[in-house]
Amino acid sequence: MRLRNYIGGEWRDSHSTNYLEVTNPATQEVLADVPAGSAADVNDAVEAAVKAYREWSRTPVSQRIQFLFRLKTILEQNREKIAETITLESGKTIGEARAELVRAIENVENACGAPAMMQGVFSEDIARGIDEFMIRQPVGVSICISPFNFPGMIPFWFLPYALACGNAFILKPSEKVPLTMVLVFELMEQLDLPKGILSLVHGGQVVVDALITHPDVRTVSFVGSSHVARHVYALGAAHGKRVQAQGGAKNPVVILPDADLHMTSQIVADSVYGCAGQRCLAASDIITVGNRSEVTESLVEAAKSRVTGFGLDEGVHMGPVITAASRERISGLLEKGVQEGGRLLLDGRKAKVAGYEEGNFIAPTIIEDVPLDGQLAGTEIFGPVMNLIHFKTIDDAITYINRNRYGNMACLFTSSGQSARRFRNEAEAGNIGINIGVAAPVAQFPFSGWKDSFYGDLHGQGSHAIEFFTQTKVVIERWPKEWSRKF
Ligand code: NAD
Repeated sequence: MRLRNYIGGEWRDSHSTNYLEVTNPATQEVLADVPAGSAADVNDAVEAAVKAYREWSRTPVSQRIQFLFRLKTILEQNREKIAETITLESGKTIGEARAELVRAIENVENACGAPAMMQGVFSEDIARGIDEFMIRQPVGVSICISPFNFPGMIPFWFLPYALACGNAFILKPSEKVPLTMVLVFELMEQLDLPKGILSLVHGGQVVVDALITHPDVRTVSFVGSSHVARHVYALGAAHGKRVQAQGGAKNPVVILPDADLHMTSQIVADSVYGCAGQRCLAASDIITVGNRSEVTESLVEAAKSRVTGFGLDEGVHMGPVITAASRERISGLLEKGVQEGGRLLLDGRKAKVAGYEEGNFIAPTIIEDVPLDGQLAGTEIFGPVMNLIHFKTIDDAITYINRNRYGNMACLFTSSGQSARRFRNEAEAGNIGINIGVAAPVAQFPFSGWKDSFYGDLHGQGSHAIEFFTQTKVVIERWPKEWSRKF
């Protein structure tokens, strides 16, 4: 099956003749061929968006959100079909796929509050007889570039807000997992949105760069690895765009001696190994403070209990990683960690799943005592690997966390309110979890990455999304008495 772009309200072949294979990571079965894309595809999509934008931006927000109410119903009615597609192309389990759709739908619901969230402010008599007010207006054509790991959720951190605020929206999904959004766009045809308001353009770097540099594109929302996020941010800034670019992570979780050991180990294992470690909020550096052997034993047990397999099969906790190349990269990093002096407490590299011998599986892995300034410690692994670190004090842990180039998430497990309060204040990360393993903000809060995990000012979701997808206009108004007709 050759995938097509959705532009101007219809499915169109790409101008590109190059296609890439989309594969099931559990079997290597080719699911579809996705166009590599071209600047001509981008030009078509932006042209259609510009045409549609004028009328859409003038449509009252209360009418625009009616489309979102219907979108919520469509997503709910087709949740199972979409979740299966997510599992087939990304490898995550069906439970994980369903869960990401919950957050996608939550964002649609939240964006339905746009009539209130877009309201302006009014000051009467800033000087005698003069009023001043600020209104929010749409920005124009907005683009979104999404990564492979949440094919059903991440586009919805942006899409519903962009539309509610009156913008036209063009999505470029990851070429590794384009099928989920193809299905969602097919379903969204039922919405009867004005043609051109919503487009889907496939491809890789050529398409991304053409979208960002197109003179009629106004905003850029990106989620992916930090080196690409930085490129997108710099290119966007050089071309005068408003950019929000969410990047990679290496998330620390600190376990204090007063934490409940069993519950903590289960939650931490779920954070490290959920989605095969391919979450930007996956726990990666697990830091024990003062209770090394007991916690280590409990974490190893929790890791061992997780079942690796095909995501649609019963009883599976963890699927494969996205590509064979990704599996090789993770194996190589672990090898490096061992050369650096690390010890493998669990080595999942030889994992085989009966019936899925070709799959990109790595079973839960734990490595400890790698040097803190080494390659493994400094690299986002993005696989089911726990990097176990032991410190004597919480001060050492916080110092280590704050040296991390990333700042997506930091978590603490404790029963001490004092320690929790200190940690949330001092840890340099934008999302903090206290006795939480994956501190993923719900739709009404911004997804607050810091440092190399985010380039820009306004994050995805919540009120930040409304601010990002609107521009403020300030009006100062005077109606001199002398100019009025007397009645
Ligand atoms: P990626 O950076 O390889 O790709 C992301 C998107 O950028 C894709 O659509 C891809 O086609 C495009 N792209 C890739 N290389 C490009 C280039 N050189 N120039 C222009 N565009 C390019 O990321 P990925 O492997 O799909 O996703 C995993 C990464 O995303 C991890 O680093 C993860 O931490 C990060 N991530 C971050 C968040 C967050 O909220 N901070 C959320 C999810 C994933």
